Amino acid sequence: MAKQKAVSYAYIAGFNVELTFKRMKSIRLKLNPPHGDIKISAPFGTNYSLIHAFVLSHGPWIQQQRERLQSAPQLARNPFCDGAIHYVFGAPFKINVSQSTEKKGVVLDKKNGLLHLHLTNPVQQNIEGEIDRYYRNELREKIPALLEKWQPVVGKSVNEWRIRKMKTRWGSCNISCRRIWLNLELAKKPLQCLEYVLVHELTHLHERYHNKRFYHLMDQFLPNWREIESNLN
Ligand SMILES: [Zn+2]
Repeated sequence: MAKQKAVSYAYIAGFNVELTFKRMKSIRLKLNPPHGDIKISAPFGTNYSLIHAFVLSHGPWIQQQRERLQSAPQLARNPFCDGAIHYVFGAPFKINVSQSTEKKGVVLDKKNGLLHLHLTNPVQQNIEGEIDRYYRNELREKIPALLEKWQPVVGKSVNEWRIRKMKTRWGSCNISCRRIWLNLELAKKPLQCLEYVLVHELTHLHERYHNKRFYHLMDQFLPNWREIESNLN
């Protein structure tokens, strides 16, 4: 049976494009609200250079329409589009996505407040994955020193720590294995939040429950923990 439709994603003339080949006569362009995602439909077998020229000639129009769409204040912007704001340890950075054949990955430009993402295929899914990988590495770098600082204070140590995405918790502690899980999202929060969650989970090695004893210990280890907790949530 003949293919009815073939969808792919491409980076064309500076834009991320969803490209669909189907049975039709000419190339068509559509911008989807709310973010102005670009959808191009083209007849089967259309030469790539024709599509490139088509996108290029519509560049100013695309920009104009996108600005119009994105100035609508009630619409949430796509968090993984170029220019979106992402936080690294509490500080905002604008993501700057570019296509690159070199494996430069993610580069943080603190001076200009930019998080550069150099990707071979800069589509949303890859942008999201690359940012997660960046967050994971940042946490991996910070955690050992924090454990070294806080384990002696708390008087307990962990066998193992791991990072994962969690929906409802900032951290968790498996007491019998002495294993701590930390939420990947902590890389977005000020560093003292990561510190607070570590101390909280370490304190569980003394006391399983959130009872008086637990909070009394927290008061001893990290007197301003309530303030940090309210910032975190
Ligand atoms: Zn707890």
